[in-house]
Amino acid sequence: MALYTMKELLRDAEKRRYGVGFFNAVNMEMVRAYIRAAEECASPIIIGTAESLLIYGDFDWLSPVMLDAARRAKVPVAVHMDHSYSFEVLMKALRSGYGSIMFDGTRLPSHEDNVRVSADIVRIAHAMGAGLECEIGSVGGLRDAEGREDQTAYTDPDEAAEFAERTGCDFLAVSIGTQHGVYKATPKLDIPRLKQIAAKVDVPLVLHGGSGLSDDDFRNTVAGGIRKVNVYTDMLLAAKKAIAENPDAIYTDLNLLAENAMKDACAAKLKLFGSEGKA
Ligand SMILES: [Zn+2]
Repeated sequence: MALYTMKELLRDAEKRRYGVGFFNAVNMEMVRAYIRAAEECASPIIIGTAESLLIYGDFDWLSPVMLDAARRAKVPVAVHMDHSYSFEVLMKALRSGYGSIMFDGTRLPSHEDNVRVSADIVRIAHAMGAGLECEIGSVGGLRDAEGREDQTAYTDPDEAAEFAERTGCDFLAVSIGTQHGVYKATPKLDIPRLKQIAAKVDVPLVLHGGSGLSDDDFRNTVAGGIRKVNVYTDMLLAAKKAIAENPDAIYTDLNLLAENAMKDACAAKLKLFGSEGKA
């Protein structure tokens, strides 16, 4: 199949009201797990990596694997660059053929800085035929290069509408009570807030921090207007469990066990998001 873009996948998701899963990969086994899951479910899927993950899976090694696997898949697959802060990484992703990138401006000193820089990157992404995801409010839990953890700030619906309008971004990540990584307490999602944002913002909305949410959380957020759901930590936990259960397996078998566990975990999410059979 031809390489799809996130824009194309989310346009259909918007039309038929389901969520598309986004899964980060750092190696071939993860890429293969996700694509096998999508093919098994006849579901579209988005795969990619993020700036903070490049230490595990080098950009120049991983990108050709993802792009090639996406082209050869039997279902529509888009390749996306998640959370990036540096201009260099974003430009590299665009040059390599990623159909979309995420510029995370939430660490900039002010809202105005986030608007200004995001708007500049939108122009570059569009000029190269790609889409840009931005974030407004802040989904906490990630750490910067100095180890400082991002704090959570809920997205204000009016601010989100103003941000989308002024930047011209294609997809908007919102903060409604999720967090990156493993939850320390049961997350409480603000679905009324999500619905207010969805009513005011025209571009597809993105949910970060999907790992650890309940099945109902996913159903409610997709029903509330989320069109892209990011899940990463749950995939790592599925692999960890498979490895822990097989202490005597040799390395090559551990790779396959981890891949199969991630494939099953990924397929379960795709079904939950409502994208099964939508390929
Ligand atoms: Zn995120």
